[in-house]
Amino acid sequence: MIAEKDKVVNFHYTLTNAEGEQMESSREGDPITYLHGANNIITGLEKAMEGHAIKDSFSVTLEPEEAYGVRNENNIQRVPLKRLKGLGKIKVGQILNLQTDKGQVQVTVLKVGRFNVDVDGNHPLAGQQLTFDVEIADIREASKEELEHRHVHGPGGHQH
Ligand code: ZN
Repeated sequence: MIAEKDKVVNFHYTLTNAEGEQMESSREGDPITYLHGANNIITGLEKAMEGHAIKDSFSVTLEPEEAYGVRNENNIQRVPLKRLKGLGKIKVGQILNLQTDKGQVQVTVLKVGRFNVDVDGNHPLAGQQLTFDVEIADIREASKEELEHRHVHGPGGHQH
């Protein structure tokens, strides 16, 4: 069985940036499970998975456009501290969930002032060239329900 549309793929990965620093790894925990062809993982990685079989290992380097996107400096915002009441002491580098008119947005704290906090709404990996070292652990057929929901159920997927 190979990774293709409507298959459930289970894989381990290690993610390194252009400097060779490890950014993320699934190898200390459970593998990642996704439904192929449903945009559950980043575009470039899904494309690279296509056609690979169980036990295959491969490496793919993605430009920001195919990974977490380019950085948008308009996503840097100044937020009044009083809007962040109840979040405790805010520190540089902290990730916050901000309630905005566009729903909940994850931001990284850049600077903490007396009255305001500068936050960056770009994904922490935006603008970076990323290399994924992948090992496919398992591939199975998706269930009818998974195909209707466009995501995986059970271990590593949605529990509902
Ligand atoms: Zn579901």
